[in-house]
Amino acid sequence: MQDTLKIKGIHHITAIAGSAAGNLAFYTQVLGLRLVKKTVNFDDPYTYHLYYGDAAGTPGTILTFFPWEHLPQGRPGPGMVTAMAFAIAKEAVDFWLNRLRDYKVEVQRSERFGEPVVRLNDPDGLGLELIGIPGPVATSAWESGPVPAAEAIKGFHSATQVVRNIDHTQALLAETMGMRPEGVEGKRHRFRMSQGLSPGGLYDLVVDAGAAGGLQGAGSVHHIAFRTPSDAAQAAWQSLLRQKGLHVTPIRDRAYFRSIYFHEPGGVLFEIATEAPGFAIDERPEHLGRALKLPPQYELMRGEIERHLKPLDASGPADRPMAVHP
Ligand code: ZN
Repeated sequence: MQDTLKIKGIHHITAIAGSAAGNLAFYTQVLGLRLVKKTVNFDDPYTYHLYYGDAAGTPGTILTFFPWEHLPQGRPGPGMVTAMAFAIAKEAVDFWLNRLRDYKVEVQRSERFGEPVVRLNDPDGLGLELIGIPGPVATSAWESGPVPAAEAIKGFHSATQVVRNIDHTQALLAETMGMRPEGVEGKRHRFRMSQGLSPGGLYDLVVDAGAAGGLQGAGSVHHIAFRTPSDAAQAAWQSLLRQKGLHVTPIRDRAYFRSIYFHEPGGVLFEIATEAPGFAIDERPEHLGRALKLPPQYELMRGEIERHLKPLDASGPADRPMAVHP
């Protein structure tokens, strides 16, 4: 297999939120992520698309949301990414337990593959995990954020997908996408995309033959994107996946990356996104996330779009306690 056709890690994960303001407050003020881009859903321009990440929006640190107010809450199940895990320093676990309790966020402690796991839900019920890791990660700390750099979230650790039957999804991950089976713990099968400093290098399949069906809604993951270094590699992925019989979309320009999408055999919407051009293409790095950015096709509609969107203040009062219950 050519090296360019090996997936190197998660690029971003996109989920559905209810309230945009509640989502912004939780991810920036409680979890201390940076809002790196405030734009609209390119397929539904009267809806925000909020991007959070490290200071630079490094691929592998990016979590994005489509907030749809009044959407019923979803329910995790097979064919869905049911939890996303962020990496933290293992020395930071107690810091986070205390911080989350201060914000009235309920937490559960466990261990997985020898690493400490702090499990919590976001305000819409989305499953999140903070996993303590021993080494550094190549991410850029947000110096102006509310969490000190030593304790800050260091991008994605992994994501978890529930499957009723592992065979076809496992074959896609291991044989086509180049992920290395790394171990099994109970029902959890771990696959590795990258080693060392690179964020978002792990993907877990949890086998649950009797899992009840899920429902997409607020608090659900919409899709997961994996990263590829170049347009040429993306085009090669598109043709390889089509040869394997998957229905792959044309290449779509998402302004900050270019994307192809397909459903993996278990039902999850997978995306392969380019690392370039990144979030500094339309805003200076120090101003990321401040202005509402629109792609050229929507600039003529800016006035109408802005009238539909509730204003969001990313610089609201920090450290305001908020109750979050799973
Ligand atoms: Zn995406």
